[in-house]
Amino acid sequence: MAKISINLATGSLQQEEIIVGIDLGTTNSLVAFINPDKLPQVINDTGKGLLVPSVVHFNAHGDTLVGNEAKEFLITDPANTIFSVKRLLGRSYKDLAAHQDTFSYKIIDDENDTLVKIKAGDKFYTPIELSAEILKELKGRAEHALKTPVNRAVITVPAYFNDSQRQATRDAGKLAGLDVLRIVNEPTAASLAYGIGLDPNKQQTIAVYDLGGGTFDVSILAIQNGIFEVLSTNGNTFLGGDDFDRAIVHYWIDKNKLDQSTLDAATMQMLRLKAEEAKKALTTQNLFNEKIGDIWCSIDKQTFQELIAPKVAETMNSCKQALQDAGLTIADIDEVVLVGGSTRTPYVKQAVTEFFGRPAHDQINPDEVVALGAAIQADILAGNRSDILLLDVTPLSLGIETMGGLMDVIIPRNAKVPTKAGRQYTTSLDGQVNMKISVFQGERDLVQENRKLAEFELRGIPAMPAGLPKVDINFMLNADGILTVQAIELRSGVKQEIDVRPSYGLSDDTVEKMLIDSITHAKSDVEQRMLIEARSEGEQLVYTAERFLEKHGVYLTETEITETKKHIEALKAALATAQKDEILKMADELNEFTRPFAERVMDVAVSSAMKGKSIDK
Ligand code: ADP
Ligand code: MG
Repeated sequence: MAKISINLATGSLQQEEIIVGIDLGTTNSLVAFINPDKLPQVINDTGKGLLVPSVVHFNAHGDTLVGNEAKEFLITDPANTIFSVKRLLGRSYKDLAAHQDTFSYKIIDDENDTLVKIKAGDKFYTPIELSAEILKELKGRAEHALKTPVNRAVITVPAYFNDSQRQATRDAGKLAGLDVLRIVNEPTAASLAYGIGLDPNKQQTIAVYDLGGGTFDVSILAIQNGIFEVLSTNGNTFLGGDDFDRAIVHYWIDKNKLDQSTLDAATMQMLRLKAEEAKKALTTQNLFNEKIGDIWCSIDKQTFQELIAPKVAETMNSCKQALQDAGLTIADIDEVVLVGGSTRTPYVKQAVTEFFGRPAHDQINPDEVVALGAAIQADILAGNRSDILLLDVTPLSLGIETMGGLMDVIIPRNAKVPTKAGRQYTTSLDGQVNMKISVFQGERDLVQENRKLAEFELRGIPAMPAGLPKVDINFMLNADGILTVQAIELRSGVKQEIDVRPSYGLSDDTVEKMLIDSITHAKSDVEQRMLIEARSEGEQLVYTAERFLEKHGVYLTETEITETKKHIEALKAALATAQKDEILKMADELNEFTRPFAERVMDVAVSSAMKGKSIDK
């Protein structure tokens, strides 16, 4: 392991280049940098504003619009206007099924645990591609405003994001042409913006309360030696400022004695926008009084507070729960930080202050604070802050090979050492008793382009249908740079492990070349990955569908069987073309066609046989 490998990983690539900090939000996204006066600053691309609504619109020609311009299509073309992409990142359809009606666009239901896709026009988009569109827009704005290429970034994610959501965020950055130096927790970034955690001699426990447009979370962090540890998080991913707007809309509907079922979508949307305007106005004044046509839109501060009180109370319960989960009491909290546009509402601020019994940090704009902190983190990674100690970090990502020769990163590049991480895998074949584990190092999506470190076999997995075994693979990298890879099948307890030294034979030049290659090939790499993933999924579906016909053919009608076979053939033909969208389209059609009778013949073994990522034998 290289000491302070960050310099080698970044500085020597392009010394003078700017590293930006990006807050990729559910409602709004923004990009910040450290200005020549050494202060963090949000980039305002002339006239376009600081906040970029996280909305993407696709027109009939497949052209993309991002931000305010895209937001306008939420009314006129909702099916092709994608908002709240962040909610979809790294999620499976199952995760989202309960909230289906929140989305106006089509989320593809492929009845298994693979990641969701969105259909707009004739094309299928992964949340990674959609997030990349937002990131590209931010990159473009930064380049335009700063008049220099921007290729490196720190991107923030909620503290509760899991591994695959973090990896999806990294991939989105890569697809947007950004070298993502680090994924940082939003509460960590917000703390940094307030200078909390910058003094290595100070030990602190802090609470970060983040109420955004559609999500709420509270995190309790312990900070020691410049390391931020998340002690607990709590919240509700379907609670935010949008709820405040909705409460006002309903209040107006009541007051004006309107019947909601007779209001068209455009009027509802107008009311919603007016409600948001009223809410913001009530942050600084006591009364809002306007009219839309002959609808009176009037509300005072007191009424507004009463309307939102139950929601705010809910967030306080989360704070209580978070403290309890961290094993702490209010007295243990040294600082409280407010994040998210909705904390501008005085009633929210007051509730947080009262709960924690101390004033909360609110000097920095709460909707900018995360991006500003991300810019500070970027500056630290660039080695521009001599006052801050850089810890040992991994110069290259470490991971294993999965289906189709893809690299699955387990410990990402720039992770602080020592560290450990793990993920669960399964088998791809029925009765598979051995699993080959190949360990790789590097940033490319295909393992063949990365450095192979080791390979071993986990033997003696009990014979089960594909998808049932649960194999945990854990990576532990100690302070001496030794990586222990452990594989364990959970049902049987069979276990195998191996030690490797990832830095062995790795020169600084090699690291540098590998990093440069990963950036130059980013686009084609991600495209290949998505094709391979679509293909694995399609092949798996052909396999499942064929087995389904074999086993349950007797319950189906003649037409159902012949039509299903036709769909299977069409999917096979698509698989042969190696066209991602074609494969996904045919897979979707096969699913849509078979769903009604597949539900009729519910078969636990078949549906559960498709869970989890699998590794080729
Ligand atoms: P996210 O992190 O979810 O992307 P933001 O932190 O940008 O979202 O917060 C967006 C929310 O903040 C919206 O609901 C918006 O209406 C609300 N908001 C913005 N300004 C104000 C204000 N002055 N008073 C109250 N709420 C506000
Ligand atoms: Mg946010």
